[in-house]
Amino acid sequence: MTNPVIVWLRRDLRLADQAAFHAAAQSGAPVIPVYVLDDEAPRHHRMGGASRWWLHHSLSRLDADLRAIGSRLVLRRGKAHEELAAIRREVGARTVHCLAHYEPWWRNAERAVAKHFQLVRHDGNYLAPPGTILSGAGTPYRIYTPFWRALSERLPPPLPVAAPAHLPAPANWPASDALEDWGLLPRAPDWAGGLRAMWSPGEGGARERLADFAEAAAVYEQRRNLPAQEGTSLLSPHLHFGEISPAAVWHAVAGAGGSVGTFLGELGWRDYAQNVILQFPDYATRSAKAEFDHMPWRTGPEAEADLAAWQQGRTGYPIVDAGMRQLWRTGWMHNRVRMLAASFLIKHLMIDWREGERWFWDTLVDADHGQNAVNWQWSAGSGVDANIFSRIMAPLSQSVKFDAAGYIRQWVPELAGLADGEIHDPVVRPRGYPRPIVDHGAGRARALAAMVQAKGEA
Ligand code: FAD
Repeated sequence: MTNPVIVWLRRDLRLADQAAFHAAAQSGAPVIPVYVLDDEAPRHHRMGGASRWWLHHSLSRLDADLRAIGSRLVLRRGKAHEELAAIRREVGARTVHCLAHYEPWWRNAERAVAKHFQLVRHDGNYLAPPGTILSGAGTPYRIYTPFWRALSERLPPPLPVAAPAHLPAPANWPASDALEDWGLLPRAPDWAGGLRAMWSPGEGGARERLADFAEAAAVYEQRRNLPAQEGTSLLSPHLHFGEISPAAVWHAVAGAGGSVGTFLGELGWRDYAQNVILQFPDYATRSAKAEFDHMPWRTGPEAEADLAAWQQGRTGYPIVDAGMRQLWRTGWMHNRVRMLAASFLIKHLMIDWREGERWFWDTLVDADHGQNAVNWQWSAGSGVDANIFSRIMAPLSQSVKFDAAGYIRQWVPELAGLADGEIHDPVVRPRGYPRPIVDHGAGRARALAAMVQAKGEA
């Protein structure tokens, strides 16, 4: 009988438009879908708590979907190359199909797997393969706008490929862990109630989200900055875990007209982020601009108390607190509020952007190595393409401008009784709601002085 082939799964947990499954099915050989969890890996590779919750449900859905077409998901724990090599010994597979991934640890893992197998890497998790959008001089772009211009010339992406109708099973399945034994779900306390209420991880959930959004895509521009409305697609965790391909999203919405182009540009930011971490693998831990190494970030007990207040949504700035509480409860935060919360931590509190990156990594269901790092460095001003540091977002006027009253009422119930005119910056604080932990003007002046100092020392 033909040797089985392995489909090695990572952040590509879908059947439709999944080139590794497609190629394996086309090969006519029995197919063994495998997911390997490496719990000993460094922080980023290991995933934060909210991502682990998502992963559990996504794997569970994928296994059910595979069973419906005659297959199943094999779960192993350890180093990918060691586990895949063990499966090779168990069942004699020689070929591994996978989608290409660009996080530094995945590139290392691909090199290690290629020593044991014929490794066939396929594209399909980005609009265009990261690393292939180059300037006329043949160099990768550092700045988003020219990157997007060059990427746009390669679009639309190829049409999505249908899910395989059947996957031939091997004569013997290799051993598999039980998902429940991996401990991905929180227990004692179970903090995932808000996540369960908001999300349906898995390919079916992604398709439903996309169908809902496709109807509203034409008015994206008008609504996307208003946190009180559901004006964005909410596809980020589905895209991160690869439950839907960006090509499928593109083709579902591109004809919507109106301001859908702005939305497609956001998908472009997703590609751009991969392009950045391919050039700067340590982007999540190292400022791209050298002067930021001299920034007098606050540390010590007072800064730690301020960081905790930010994390818990108790800064006394209603829109920041609403965002941080939305994040804690649902694993997601509106983009406009993410920008405000990040700016507030870095500039008003003068706390190192890496503390924020770390917190988001643990609490976001869409935590993504490239997208998180690129956006934190953009917010800090430390990135290769970034907002300048001295442009400090004013949380109170932004809250008014983007009509956040309903959003604040939803996430900060202490303030729910206040009128629209009061709620952004209450003069009289209801019992239990803190005074601002830093004065806007004083925080701003401190940040600007810190930047002058850092530049002087660089
Ligand atoms: P939509 O507005 O519907 O956008 C569609 C898709 O485009 C998103 O799903 C996402 O994949 C991509 N996208 C949108 N905005 C951006 C952006 N600014 N940068 C890169 N890709 C983008 N997004 C993540 O997916 N993971 C992260 O870890 C992450 N961390 C962030 C940290 C900070 C400090 C900030 C300011 C933003 C971060 N973002 C991150 C980007 C953005 O906030 C989310 O992608 C967006 O809010 C997700 O909601 P949505 O799917 O409804 O987005």
